[in-house]
Amino acid sequence: MLITITNTADEATDLGFLLHKNPANLHSADLAFGKAHVFYSSATAQRCTACLLLELDPVELVRGAQQLEDYVNDRPYVASSYLTVAMGRIFGTALAGNCQKRPELVETKLPLELTVEVIRARGGADVLRKLFEPLGYHVEAAPIPLDDKFPDWGESRYFRLTLKACVTVHDALSHLCVLLPVLDEEKHYYIGDAEVDKLLRHGEGWLGKHPERQLIVQRYLKRRSSLVDQAMARLLDEENAAVEVVESRTEQAALAEKDLERPMTLHTQRLNLVATRLKTLEAKTILDLGCGEGKLLRRLLADRAFERITGMDVSHRSLETASSRLPLERMPERQRKRVHLMQGSLLYRDKRLSGFDAAAVIEVIEHLDRPRLVAMERVLFEFARPRHVVVTTPNREYNVLFPTLPPGKLRHGDHRFEWTRAEFADWAGAIGVRFGYQVSFEPVGPVDERHGAPSQMAVFSLTAGGAQ
Ligand code: SAH
Repeated sequence: MLITITNTADEATDLGFLLHKNPANLHSADLAFGKAHVFYSSATAQRCTACLLLELDPVELVRGAQQLEDYVNDRPYVASSYLTVAMGRIFGTALAGNCQKRPELVETKLPLELTVEVIRARGGADVLRKLFEPLGYHVEAAPIPLDDKFPDWGESRYFRLTLKACVTVHDALSHLCVLLPVLDEEKHYYIGDAEVDKLLRHGEGWLGKHPERQLIVQRYLKRRSSLVDQAMARLLDEENAAVEVVESRTEQAALAEKDLERPMTLHTQRLNLVATRLKTLEAKTILDLGCGEGKLLRRLLADRAFERITGMDVSHRSLETASSRLPLERMPERQRKRVHLMQGSLLYRDKRLSGFDAAAVIEVIEHLDRPRLVAMERVLFEFARPRHVVVTTPNREYNVLFPTLPPGKLRHGDHRFEWTRAEFADWAGAIGVRFGYQVSFEPVGPVDERHGAPSQMAVFSLTAGGAQ
């Protein structure tokens, strides 16, 4: 099993930094089912080709074999889930979008040529084109003859695939990791919930927009309908939620007019609304609870009115992402002093949460089990007790307007509940009474006359009596 990645940009050997593999060396990794090797067949300033060769262990492959096909099959040669697992191991850093030595290269589009020596394409060359062309690839699919001497054996389903495009290495690897298993019929391991996460992680930024996304999701998850539903619902939510972050003013100026006119996604609207509300409340010190990957933190940081911004999340991984995307280590000292990240849980009383003007809890409560929500209410409104609290959560009534969300399903596999507007108002109203806050509500996103807006926001402010 062999795939190659060729960079023909100037200083082509930058590919080595991006793949975290020095072109001068041979790199090998032991896997449960064989061995993966990375080597370079050329490494000049004009052209650099990295080859990933996977040798499947024949003994491992026939473990549990019962019939002839178990021994004689195409598994050792064709690109399959074995290859994508190997890619995950050997190119893990590149797939995660990291490049320690040359971080600026990660987002650089390079003229890349990818070849997959043997691929078995269900649906033939048409499917190859349908999958890769929308991603900007020029596709060459050369059928590998079954056998010239026996035309009766029919058309081969095997192809040598060449893809050319100007893409980032990170995107190219992500495309392969999703689409190779889609083309191949078999997956050599159990498909469970973790596969949905993996699919959405590798598909971030492109899968939601792909015209064949339904086909991709179905085939990737081997048509396990509960998983397919889950993935489609999350994709749909992400499609509404994908934040196009404007990194800097110069970039903003460079955006094409049509991009500026593009309707804002739901999550962008939500984050903008929260930032605006925090500003009108004249809050200067902000706590972002369940800050995730730091999308709100970045927005707040761009406005000097916010003097101290603290993000807390229970997930260490999210905090790492937040730190690298802010990016903390490349920020001028003065900026860096304004922002602070910490690991912690909303379910436990924590002294570090005291003394803030406002707290934002954006799309978090629906991830908590109901009994735990009660703990969070006391932690936030009784002990941390900021002057203002902004909470957003989905509005379940709006779900019927999502065309591919099956009736009764929640938008995200990890949501424990989604509230109607009345349920949210009841919950928030009761909190106001119990802890001495007054509450107002705002819709988030376009308002449907009957079902309301897709998301809802409550703004709590300490009453004069409550502030004593
Ligand atoms: N507020 C972010 C992320 C929302 S996703 C945004 O709008 O983009 C929900 C986040 O809540 C996740 O990052 C998850 O790790 C975090 N979370 C879930 N339970 C938590 C808890 N008990 N304490 C703190 N954070 C929690």
